[in-house]
Amino acid sequence: MNSPVLPRDDSSSRPAIEIADPTTPHVSVLDLGVTRGDGIFETIMVTRGDAPAIDAHLARFASSAALLDLPEPDPAVWREAVALAMSSHPTVDVLAVKLVLTRGVEGTGVPTAWALAMPTKDFSADRETGIRVVALDRGYRHDVAQTSPWLLQGAKTLSYAINSAALREAGRRGADDVIFTSSDGFVLEAPTASVLLRHGDRILTPPTEHGILHGTTQRRAFEFFAARGYVTRALPVTRIDLERADAVWLASSIRQAVPVVELDGRPLQHDLELTRALNAHLSLRDRD
Ligand code: PLP
Repeated sequence: MNSPVLPRDDSSSRPAIEIADPTTPHVSVLDLGVTRGDGIFETIMVTRGDAPAIDAHLARFASSAALLDLPEPDPAVWREAVALAMSSHPTVDVLAVKLVLTRGVEGTGVPTAWALAMPTKDFSADRETGIRVVALDRGYRHDVAQTSPWLLQGAKTLSYAINSAALREAGRRGADDVIFTSSDGFVLEAPTASVLLRHGDRILTPPTEHGILHGTTQRRAFEFFAARGYVTRALPVTRIDLERADAVWLASSIRQAVPVVELDGRPLQHDLELTRALNAHLSLRDRD
């Protein structure tokens, strides 16, 4: 399995894209992405040979780079890398292409970058049966992105150890996933997904001003709901809003929309038909 690697992207000149074998070593043990998690990433879903949300992913990649003072990623180079990664991987139903940009080897000032295509975990069972979620306090107020921008809330950084720890805590509590809340009681996001909820004809998601990622899947879900006559809004969401919702979903590129059927051991309402229609939309190209 070959995937393209972009070993150096100093943004001063267009870097050459090299195809490399991902089973052999490429990243230095001195790379700040490895030693400090100092870098950013995106995971892009490829289905039927197409990456339907690539524009939104590249836009978020650029905004994460800006938040970390990394060089601006050149979208043309990354598009080419994604296309090469897709074409050099054997055909599978759903492929993930991961883009990574790190601060590079300590002391060089030269970032390291690569794109890697890999088969993904199959979430189709979760999409049908739903998942059990626990709410965990993230420990930051809802306005942390404004008060403390150095905490990099809203950037998709390589520092996911906290997100993984939260998922292990969910496991210890007998749940499958987590919904983070702010220390002052607002619903935020999941460790690797956005939160969406339905109240009647309104579809809500917490606002990005609350220090969360701008989900590409959430945006595509809103297009689906708007086309069906729902009112879509990014608004502050509380725990009570979750408990009273007609449906709650975790949404992300690879899993698509997974219904949340239980919150802290209490059942939540869900809507299988709507979930199926939403996921059918999410697996299509935007122009289909
Ligand atoms: N929030 C967090 C913290 C994430 O890690 C992710 C995706 O990995 C998302 C939200 C959903 O983003 P997307 O729909 O673009 O995959």
